Amino acid sequence: MTTLAFLGLGAMGDPMAAHLASHARAHGHRVLVWNRTAAKAEAHARAHGTQAATLEEVAAADVIFTCLPTSAEVDEVMSRMRPHLRPGATWVDCTSGHPEAATRQAAELASNGVTFLDAPVSGGTVGAQQGRLTVMVGGDAAALEAAQPHLAFAGKVVHVGGTGAGFAVKAVNNALLGVTLWATGEGLAVLGRAGVDLGAALDVINASSGRSNASENLIPQRVLTREFPATFALGLLAKDAGIATDLTQRVQGSAPVLAQVAALLRAAQHVVGPAEDHTAALKLIEAMNAQEIR
Ligand code: NDP
Repeated sequence: MTTLAFLGLGAMGDPMAAHLASHARAHGHRVLVWNRTAAKAEAHARAHGTQAATLEEVAAADVIFTCLPTSAEVDEVMSRMRPHLRPGATWVDCTSGHPEAATRQAAELASNGVTFLDAPVSGGTVGAQQGRLTVMVGGDAAALEAAQPHLAFAGKVVHVGGTGAGFAVKAVNNALLGVTLWATGEGLAVLGRAGVDLGAALDVINASSGRSNASENLIPQRVLTREFPATFALGLLAKDAGIATDLTQRVQGSAPVLAQVAALLRAAQHVVGPAEDHTAALKLIEAMNAQEIR
């Protein structure tokens, strides 16, 4: 019997682990779950037929999934689990992590005979609930091929390169989300000050070349409604854009727009609050313009 383990039952991990449980039921595997706040793991076990387990127990699984805020929290659990890991296992880290951490973590795990795949996901909490996440994977292709049947939460899986490449692609993708979200917010604040109806403006933009996921979905559903539902924390988006900036430095690239958006998102995080939804970053633009985007 193959043992799968999932650590980190947050907004993303909880529904991802639920898909793992359905997959395991169909194939005769078992799923262990671990969460820092243990009550969430026990609730997951009751709801989905998984087993709440200790860190020592999850460490002995054949395939270990993590979905934690940053690579720092992955480091924390990894150091506690390393003495108990099983040689031949694969560690699939679905955290939006740091490429340099991936290189170090892969080397550390290799000394335990464990293969590390950086496998961050895209698609939001709705994609996680629907089991339609896009997974971008860095690391050994053969290890991915072996683990891929267990990526039960995925709609699309792309092997993007060696260790760290998955985290790099995720960071740039989210920096691009930051760019379109921020720039569309600026444009709408200016239009609002000009007295234009913002619903009508978005109607035009979404049938024109300025459209994006921000203009088509995020801003109409979350900002204009003033709901800002907290499904993806602003602090996490700021972290991702910061990773894109670190990557730019490491490769000695030049990406001033990405760097500026990373700085603006960091400012918004400090002013608006890291736990607010990422779309609440636009509240800083509203303050800068004395203009609500509604
Ligand atoms: P959440 O804040 O909802 O969940 C975080 C999880 O990490 C919880 O299980 C939390 O445990 C656990 N955790 C926090 N700190 C520690 C720690 N020190 N040690 C052990 N466990 C810890 O985050 P998300 O699920 O939203 O995000 C997880 C990852 O997925 C992030 O890297 C994020 O950038 C990425 N992501 C998020 C998306 C989204 O739409 N939300 C979309 C795509 C990627 P506890 O329950 O005890 O707090």
